[in-house]
Amino acid sequence: MDKRSQDIAALITKHEALFTDMSDRIWGFAEPRFQEYQSSELQQKVLADLGFSIRAGLAGQETAFIAEWGSGKPVIAILGEFDALSGLSQKADVTEHDPVEAGGQGHGCGHHLLGAGSAAAATAVKEYMEQNDIPGTIRYYGCPAEENAGGKAFLVRDGLFDDCDIAITWHPSTVNQVSLGSSLANFRVFYTFHGTSAHAAGSPHLGRSALDAVEIMNVGVNYMREHMISQARVHYAVTDSGGTAPNVVQSRAQVLYAIRAPKVTQVQELKRRIDNIAKGAALITETTVEIKQVSAYSDLITNKVIAARLDAHLRNFVPIDYTEEELEYARRFTAVTTQMDRDNLVGSIKKLLPKAEAERWLREPILNVVAPSVDMGAGGSTDVGDVSWVVPTAQLTTATWAPATAAHSWQATAQGCSSNAHKAMFAASKAMACAVLDFMTDPELVAAARAQWIEDLDGETYPNPLPEGYMPEIW
Ligand SMILES: [Zn+2]
Repeated sequence: MDKRSQDIAALITKHEALFTDMSDRIWGFAEPRFQEYQSSELQQKVLADLGFSIRAGLAGQETAFIAEWGSGKPVIAILGEFDALSGLSQKADVTEHDPVEAGGQGHGCGHHLLGAGSAAAATAVKEYMEQNDIPGTIRYYGCPAEENAGGKAFLVRDGLFDDCDIAITWHPSTVNQVSLGSSLANFRVFYTFHGTSAHAAGSPHLGRSALDAVEIMNVGVNYMREHMISQARVHYAVTDSGGTAPNVVQSRAQVLYAIRAPKVTQVQELKRRIDNIAKGAALITETTVEIKQVSAYSDLITNKVIAARLDAHLRNFVPIDYTEEELEYARRFTAVTTQMDRDNLVGSIKKLLPKAEAERWLREPILNVVAPSVDMGAGGSTDVGDVSWVVPTAQLTTATWAPATAAHSWQATAQGCSSNAHKAMFAASKAMACAVLDFMTDPELVAAARAQWIEDLDGETYPNPLPEGYMPEIW
């Protein structure tokens, strides 16, 4: 490791207690999308105290903020998050499902670590630039509502990334890796049907059922599946079934759809077809339908130039030095994953590593190795995708969770304040800070990332998939 990387790592180590505390407190706040008031305030206060200037309340999002230090070019963004997920409340370090609050929110995707780890990286970059008189601007973006609402799409739409040259972020995981993969574009759309209530036995002929319309719509969409591209994903939740009385014809019912495909334009086309199916269901049932899109995530364009720098630096900070207690902790949590999750992990690792190495690592209690930087294929969606359409962007993952732990699970929430999670978070912080300094000090590297980005865009521009004029809302 070169001297600069060592110095940057030391700056992160110096602030370990501060950012561990930030992460743990945000885990405790467990605030859901657009309601991350305490989490955002805590991050703003810590970063302001460290000398960053703060702009808060951005793009119609009260909890969004930018912490900035320095001036002039390049402008480099480190992205952070802090939103929790509903239904994933869970006591820390407990290996059985035991919520802090039944049905409450929990950090089952590790966004408390994501935000604190990114803030730590931004702080180390600032302090290194100060000590070494390096020109340029470092920004930390406090991005609300990654889950279910795609908060970054609003920030992008309002031009808050327009002057950025490079964007870097990370995500908690079970593997240490700089993936070259994309993610699926994703729209969330509410279909609300309105019918006519009636006594379901006394005068059923006078009723027009909104619940029937939801059911018929879902049947129609399920028939559509055969005639869509195989990489697309469509799923739904009935968010209002019209009540609990079977003897009342349901006058209102609602279903929420998630529509995903590799490209935004493909999602737009699928949404057009699903809108038509909803209108068909309304016609069949003599109800009416309201269609309201509430979020949009664009597909991720991973910048290979940035990814290569992240990968090189991550290899300096992994393997991580775990204690025997920490390895035992990981073993206990892998023991409470499902057999399907464990089988899935074995499949993934065998794809990533040569057979003998894969078998060796699968016997280890933690995947304490940097997996090759390859494209693992798109599954989920992220609003980092929207940023990647306007700024060259790449991200890494580190193994904050025991092998086979599923994201969006109580097991992930439970491990969120462990020393394993903190160590993996700081490995991410160090790799990101070192990569940021590479770009901060080398205009040719910034130009190379930009040239790669223009090539990847291949003449396309940001599809800006949010409905015109739509503002963030809590739904
Ligand atoms: Zn996440």
